[in-house]
Amino acid sequence: MGIEMTRIAIVEGDGIGHEVIPVAKNVLELLHPEYEYFSVDVGYHRWEQTGCPCADRDIAELKTADAILFGAITTPPMKDYQSVVLRLRKSLDLYANLRPVKGNGFDIMIVRENTEGLYSGIEEIGPDRATTLRVVTWRGTERIVRSAIRIARQRNGILTVGHKANVLKSDVLFRDICLAEAQAAGVSCNERFIDALALDILQHPSSYDVVVTTNIFGDILSDVASYLVGGLGLVPSANIGDRYALFEPVHGSAPDIAGKNVANPIATLRSAGMLLAYCGDEKGSDCIEAAVQAVLAQGIRTRDLGGSAGTREFGEAIIRALLQRE
Ligand code: ATP
Repeated sequence: MGIEMTRIAIVEGDGIGHEVIPVAKNVLELLHPEYEYFSVDVGYHRWEQTGCPCADRDIAELKTADAILFGAITTPPMKDYQSVVLRLRKSLDLYANLRPVKGNGFDIMIVRENTEGLYSGIEEIGPDRATTLRVVTWRGTERIVRSAIRIARQRNGILTVGHKANVLKSDVLFRDICLAEAQAAGVSCNERFIDALALDILQHPSSYDVVVTTNIFGDILSDVASYLVGGLGLVPSANIGDRYALFEPVHGSAPDIAGKNVANPIATLRSAGMLLAYCGDEKGSDCIEAAVQAVLAQGIRTRDLGGSAGTREFGEAIIRALLQRE
């Protein structure tokens, strides 16, 4: 029986995706020269050139990969433009968005439902009224909370459900299913209103372990929590479904700094680390984190962290740190 080669799809996307993804790709190629890497070109720039940001054949190609490393894609605020990221999450059914926020004395895993909620994509735009449907389903909630419970068990931890059930009926359903599933699984669980949680996570980060919440609340909560670790340039994420997995930094395409060689590639490097762990190489993932720590300890930092290193220079320092490891 032949050994199947691991195939990694690389999507740079738009904006700083073109700068941070090559840094992480170099690292993956160093650690795993035996993997096959192939590029898929989707994004707003494709729409500008061809009128189509992501074709059916791009989705089909992405589905042939064992894992996808993804930069960021700009979603312009135009009525008739369909978000590529939302389309990918739906087409690949990447229902669990895992966003770890780790720092001195705290280690939080935000588990965000990724396919429904306020990002259902069900919208009606009229001349004087626009509506977006917030969809919470039994199936969608059950599978996200079961993912969160699995993670909480691996960490021997506590699950916190973030919701706004005092106002939103859809969150009554979400909360009730989460609490019932946690109780049935014998996992410690508490609940908090999402607005109070956003403040408390900053004030008492060590009180939290695994937080499960709906789509937009998880999106906002992870950006807020990134403040604890130095900002958006540092937080990675994994989008996991039952068949496919896509790894991307929490930040977006950052058009304001694109093309200037100032973007922090750490979030993308850590996303590559999560990709390796998903592919079974926990050690490779640890090596990437150790290299990030070693380079920061040398005082090499990008501008967002108060340093002057460029994206490329930071990437070169990471490669040196990896080559020097025992
Ligand atoms: P998008 O529409 O793609 O989400 P955005 O600019 O609205 O783009 P982000 O890309 O998340 O949102 O950027 C928010 C802010 O954080 C920007 O001002 C950007 O400069 C900063 N930022 C984001 N990522 C990084 C990074 N990797 N390094 C340094 N600064 C970053």
